[in-house]
Amino acid sequence: MAHKITLIPGDGIGPEVTSAARRCIEATGVKIEWDEVIAGQAAQDQSGNILPENVLESIRKNKVALKGPIITPIAGGFRSVNVAIRQALDLYACVRPAKSYAGVNSSYKNIDLVVIRENTEDLYAGIEFQEGETQTRDLIQLIEKYSQKKLRLDSAISIKPISKYASERIVRFAFEYALKFGRKKVTAVHKANIMKFTDGLFLKTAREVAGEYTAKITFEEAIVDNMAMQLVKVPRNYDVLVLPNLYGDIISDLCAGLVGGLGISPGANIGDGIAVFEAVHGAAPKYQGLNKVNPTAMILSGVLMLRYLREDKAAERLEEAVKDVLAEGKFVTYDLKPNRNDPTSAGTREMAEAIIKNLK
Ligand code: NAD
Repeated sequence: MAHKITLIPGDGIGPEVTSAARRCIEATGVKIEWDEVIAGQAAQDQSGNILPENVLESIRKNKVALKGPIITPIAGGFRSVNVAIRQALDLYACVRPAKSYAGVNSSYKNIDLVVIRENTEDLYAGIEFQEGETQTRDLIQLIEKYSQKKLRLDSAISIKPISKYASERIVRFAFEYALKFGRKKVTAVHKANIMKFTDGLFLKTAREVAGEYTAKITFEEAIVDNMAMQLVKVPRNYDVLVLPNLYGDIISDLCAGLVGGLGISPGANIGDGIAVFEAVHGAAPKYQGLNKVNPTAMILSGVLMLRYLREDKAAERLEEAVKDVLAEGKFVTYDLKPNRNDPTSAGTREMAEAIIKNLK
């Protein structure tokens, strides 16, 4: 039976990279019925709504989506459509593997890390109070009353909620992920030495959950600033990292940098029985329509999607084909060439074509 998948082409380079990924996924022979829906700038232009309700309905119905990047409008409306989708569907786990591939220029080799980021709370909850507003001044007074600490009246305030519920489910997700994919160690990353209540709760909960898994998976703790240094010094000492939202955002980009950058970094946003697969990179509007950008991140997001659909063999074949094309270094986009102005660089379509030809 065909898998029903929601396809969101997205903005900027989104339609080009999702089309490349779609062709590669279809070439594996896995039967997919795509339900294409429009979100982002095109939806805004068509209907005045950047995230139409039928987009969320389609994902809720099909349970799996492949999504291109969507621009974040500078002013008005949603803080970010991407964050809105994650929150509306409670896609609480953001999974970002960072893996070295031969042929990709990077200072490090043989990296194989997975960053698991909590996706629904922390400073990303979007609870902010603007400087100078009456509410903000009221809040400042309230905080002073309860904390006995002085705040400057011209402060802006962001709220950092961290719950036991969300901490428990993300840490459990990380351990279950480690078990499922044969990983050996989970490191919980925090700043509980300073943020004793919020990060403290995350860490205490992580320790409790880890207790259920210690027979099979090693558990470690790391303070986020030290983690950043250790990842740059000895990245191979780490395996699966689990972090609250903001640290997860920053550390996952650091890890993408360790293996060669945005062009090859896939991602998934996963909830209970529902998942949206997307590259880590954004819409790169300056390259829109030029058939120039690297489709690898989106194709590898497709590999993660195939694994999620339990199409392991197809996932393996597609990843191998990507590896072969990267290692050969011939039919790759400009960003993977030693000289970015190399006139022999492949276009987005041509690189996808080479990957399809390498499918075994
Ligand atoms: P970006 O990732 O779009 O671009 C940063 C730079 O990375 C680009 O100039 C380009 O040089 C490079 N790059 C990105 N993808 C590439 C690819 N596939 N191949 C080769 N090079 C690539 O980040 P940005 O400029 O900060 O964001 C542009 C827009 O995308 C913003 O509106 C932002 O909000 C949005 N965005 C969306 C998502 C998402 O949908 N999940 C993620 C990040 C950014």
